[in-house]
Amino acid sequence: MSSVRGRALITGGAGFIGSHLSEALLAQGWQVTVIDNLSTGRYENIQHLSSEPHFKAVIDTITHEVVLDRLAGECDVIFHLAAAVGVELIVRDPVRVIETNVLGTHAVLQAAARYRKKVLLASTSEVYGKSNKVPFGEDDDRVLGPTTKARWSYSDSKAVDEFLGLAYHRQTGLPVVVFRLFNTIGPRQTGQYGMVVPRFVRQALSGGPITVYGDGSQSRCFCNVQDTVRALLQLVETPEAVGRVFNVGTVEEVTVLELAQRVWTGVESCAPTVKMPEPAGRMVFIPYDQAYEPGFEDMQRRVPDISRIKRLTGWEPRIPLQQTLEQVILDMLSRSATA
Ligand code: UDP
Repeated sequence: MSSVRGRALITGGAGFIGSHLSEALLAQGWQVTVIDNLSTGRYENIQHLSSEPHFKAVIDTITHEVVLDRLAGECDVIFHLAAAVGVELIVRDPVRVIETNVLGTHAVLQAAARYRKKVLLASTSEVYGKSNKVPFGEDDDRVLGPTTKARWSYSDSKAVDEFLGLAYHRQTGLPVVVFRLFNTIGPRQTGQYGMVVPRFVRQALSGGPITVYGDGSQSRCFCNVQDTVRALLQLVETPEAVGRVFNVGTVEEVTVLELAQRVWTGVESCAPTVKMPEPAGRMVFIPYDQAYEPGFEDMQRRVPDISRIKRLTGWEPRIPLQQTLEQVILDMLSRSATA
């Protein structure tokens, strides 16, 4: 009797990406239920959806078996985004990161298997580790550091999630799709857990300086969250995606130094009331040891090979970096105006 397109359960749905995914699914006629323990997600991210008739939020943890079991039984597909992310959090609290990622995904896959529900499992470009191959293809080898460096625990925790998801698919036929998110940015992302773009924007809006770690020659590709979400919508509707792994990201690459300059350019045009500091006061360079932990190893370049998802679904990112930076700047300005 229901006219909905499908029923989606989003774990971590009050997070940055989960909240955008909720909006996009609702706009396409899905019924959306979010489960989030608000550890890194925020209720404000989904508050505007609370009056939508096809939206429901459950504030609880995914390891609460009774609750997860009920929600898994009531949906058609699970987008599993709940995870502990952010390099800073990983270095500060590796126990929480490993337990959340491994036990949480185990709980989700078990519940999905009980009702034979499709799972779209979020992973990360961190699984490639410090391999210096450019770009990263889904079947490339992983290159990791020692277990004594907390940073690598995130990579391995998500790799275990991938192994488990693919094993469920292989052994039991559970429909599982793994997607590896590369750097994703957009409105609502918080810099609290180290993410560079919201940090740089906040720093610039407060008059600087922007904190560049290392010498700023390391590069990343920053994908607009709306493009990312569109990729997930296409993957969920593509039966041939099941049992496979997909990179999701953009190939527009910038160094962190250039990113800092671009943030200043964006602030100059979107926030003219911000007083631009002298060039010398715009950036400060902070050694990695100080920014993270002694011996911290950063990835010098991180570029996805997105030919697999493009070939299968036609998806490719559309929104250029400067436009996304302006969205982030305007979003942060509107938040500080209403705070
Ligand atoms: N970064 C930086 N200043 C900051 C935060 C991050 O220079 O205040 C750098 C960080 O060292 C990395 C890049 O920005 O080289 C991206 O960092 P983020 O934590 O956003 O993502 P990831 O390291 O996972 O790609």
